[in-house]
Amino acid sequence: MDEAQGKATAGLILQGLRKRFGELEVLKGVSLEVHRGEFFTLLGPSGCGKTTLLRLIGGFEVPDEGRILLGGRDLTGLPAHLRPVNTVFQNYALFPHLTVYENVAFGLRSRRFPEAEVRAKVEYALGLLHLESLVHRYPHQLSGGQKQRVALARALVNEPEVLLLDEPLSALDAKLRAEVQVELRNLQRRLQATFILVTHDQEEAMAVSDRIGVMEAGRLLQVGTPEEVYERPRTRFVAEFLGVAN
Ligand code: ADP
Repeated sequence: MDEAQGKATAGLILQGLRKRFGELEVLKGVSLEVHRGEFFTLLGPSGCGKTTLLRLIGGFEVPDEGRILLGGRDLTGLPAHLRPVNTVFQNYALFPHLTVYENVAFGLRSRRFPEAEVRAKVEYALGLLHLESLVHRYPHQLSGGQKQRVALARALVNEPEVLLLDEPLSALDAKLRAEVQVELRNLQRRLQATFILVTHDQEEAMAVSDRIGVMEAGRLLQVGTPEEVYERPRTRFVAEFLGVAN
C-alpha cells in the first residue's frame, strides 16, 4: 500500500494520551488504533477513564499529552464542531421544545444547509432509525427507546466518519437493550462508519464489537476481538472483570 492510499484508509490513531484532573491522573498514556469501519468498544469498570477518552476523541476535552489522528489528519487541537466525529450522550440531550424532525435537522440548519438538502438528509436519517411516523412528536411524547433512536438519528444525519456512543443503552430495559444492540450493529455495518462504544457491560461489548479494548485505572490493558479477549485474557484484572478467572 502506498503512502497516499495508507492515509486514505487509516483509521483513528490515539498516541500516548494523558489527561489529569487536578491531582487525579485519569488517562495514563493511552495508545490505540481503531480501524476505519470498525465497531470498537471501550470496556471497563466505572471510573477507569472511558468517558474521558471518548471526550478527548470528540473534542470536548484537550489532552495534556499525546495526539489524535484521523485518516492522517491531526485532530488534537481541533474544536468539537470541526471534527468529523459525532457523539451520542448517555442522557440523549434532545431539545425538549423541538419536534423529532426539528431535533434531527437542528445541526444542519445551524450550519446553514439549504432547506431541501436538510429535508433529504433528515428523512434519510429518520428512515435509518425507523422514526418516520414520529416526526411531529416532542421528546416528552417518546419512550426511552424512541428518544435513543432520535439521538442516534441526530448524530448520523451529519454523516460523521466516527460515531462515539457513551453508554447509550444504559437507560433502556433489558429486552429493549438487546433489540437496540442488534439495530446498532446492523446500522454500523450498513453505513460502514467507525463506531466507538463505551460500556461497563461485558455482554453488550461481546454482542456488538469487532474488537474490544479493556481499560483499568487510566490504562488500556488489552485490545482484541471478543473471542481473543475472553479466551486469552492478558492480565488477572481482565480475566476477573470478564468473569473468566479460574
Ligand atoms: P468512566 O467513563 O470509565 O466511568 P470517567 O472518564 O467518567 O470514567 O472518569 C474517570 C475519573 O475521572 C473518575 O474518577 C472521575 O470522577 C474523574 N473525572 C472525570 N471527569 C472529571 C472532571 N471534569 N473533573 C474532575 N474529575 C473528573
